[in-house]
Amino acid sequence: MKISEQLLTTPKEQNNALFVDGQHYTYEQLKKAACAIADQLGKDNAKIGILSYRNIEYFASVFGCIITNRTFIPLGVKFPIKRLISIIEQSGLKHIIYSPSYADIVEQLIQYLPHVTFCAIDTAFIEASLQMTIEVEKLENNALAYIMFTSGSTGSPKGVPISFSNLASYSNYMTKYLGLTYQDKVSQVFDPTFDLSIHDMLITWLSGACLYVIPEVAMLAPGKFIKKHELTVWFSVPSTAAIMAKLGMLKQNAYPLLRFSLFCGEPLPVDLAKQFQLAAPNSKVINLYGPTEATIACSQHVFDSTRAYAHSYVPIGEPFEHMTMVADAQGELLISGEQVFCGYLNNKRKTQESIKCHQEKTYYHTGDVVKHNDLGELEYISRLDDQVKIQGYRVELAEIDTVSKALLNNPLVQSIAYPKAIPQFIALFICGQADKNIEQQLITSLKSKLPSYMIPKKVIWLDTMPLNSNGKIDKLVLHATLENI
Ligand code: AMP
Repeated sequence: MKISEQLLTTPKEQNNALFVDGQHYTYEQLKKAACAIADQLGKDNAKIGILSYRNIEYFASVFGCIITNRTFIPLGVKFPIKRLISIIEQSGLKHIIYSPSYADIVEQLIQYLPHVTFCAIDTAFIEASLQMTIEVEKLENNALAYIMFTSGSTGSPKGVPISFSNLASYSNYMTKYLGLTYQDKVSQVFDPTFDLSIHDMLITWLSGACLYVIPEVAMLAPGKFIKKHELTVWFSVPSTAAIMAKLGMLKQNAYPLLRFSLFCGEPLPVDLAKQFQLAAPNSKVINLYGPTEATIACSQHVFDSTRAYAHSYVPIGEPFEHMTMVADAQGELLISGEQVFCGYLNNKRKTQESIKCHQEKTYYHTGDVVKHNDLGELEYISRLDDQVKIQGYRVELAEIDTVSKALLNNPLVQSIAYPKAIPQFIALFICGQADKNIEQQLITSLKSKLPSYMIPKKVIWLDTMPLNSNGKIDKLVLHATLENI
């Protein structure tokens, strides 16, 4: 069955589907809202940009797109205008729907994008008792469900299109694997531009459970929210758990009602998994692994607190049953299977670089270095390139460097993620005479081009840039420099 049909048939209408901004919405209300939005989208099967953020309009819009088999592109309301324009132009978006609260962003976009139609989501529908009429678009083979934009090393974001069939492979597997029911209360912490947010919505609603959107103010210290709303499923990046640990929110048996504690997006330290397991003793702590290109996640490992793990990170485990994961001679992890995307948006070169043949089979080359442990499980070791994770967000350091070099007109610039363990931040090294004015101008310009998690927290000026024996910038020395500051 198609995802749209599953979503429309699974849950009981009067059960709660969503809790957001202090209000519950039943499946009936969510569907009505989604239908009203779908109605606003017009008849052609064009891609829809959604400019909204974790509110009823956002969730109803995504629901509306999925049940009508339309492609949606989440547009980050926290992104600088230039980045949004780049994403809209690259994806050829002609229709954007937006929450009225983001009208100021639309006003700025309109000036640069005269050919795009912007349509405010009509919030009146939510209370209205509308008749549901759904016009489902025909689902073509390889039709796209969504396009996510990730950091790109050349200085602009790159689009990762995911088809409905990629997504159905994931959701069919994951709904069965977790076996959530209408009694489950599932956390929602991820930004809409991060594909883990798709897991939250889809797996919750396909299971008839209720999604609890943790408000921005509670995000740094979500423990209270988990307890107050008696959540049964937690899903975040390990960095969020690391902050919870630092704030003393992982006390023994703090969350006895959690049935699942899911982590994905960055390496999960064994010590942190242990702490979370202590705090949520009745939950299965699961480390999920996967790049956006292979649809949300494609391998898993269930943490066992009684086991002595050899490595400091929890293994990324075993591929889902319908996926294949192998390591090549260099140790690079290669992935194939139904969840792997068909290639980057309008970027043949990048596609050819990352989807390649290995032993007569086509694989997505992840850039992650892995090894098999004695039990045959995959362990994450490192990256082959300069991609890092900041609070779980994927960042190509080269993107920060490319933009900074151009702004400073100085080729000797290097960013690093610091410290070695999560949570990390970006530090930027510049070779030259320290100048506070230039530094401030640089940060202001970077803020107008890059999302906040890519902005350096520290800028360090060096008289000379340390080089290794290959003549490349020596990042180990840069790390050591920061340690000594
Ligand atoms: P994204 O496309 O934003 O989901 O980022 C994918 C990248 O995040 C992977 O290629 C890995 O480098 C990293 N990653 C995701 N999950 C894990 C995990 N469980 N352990 C280690 N690294 C991970």
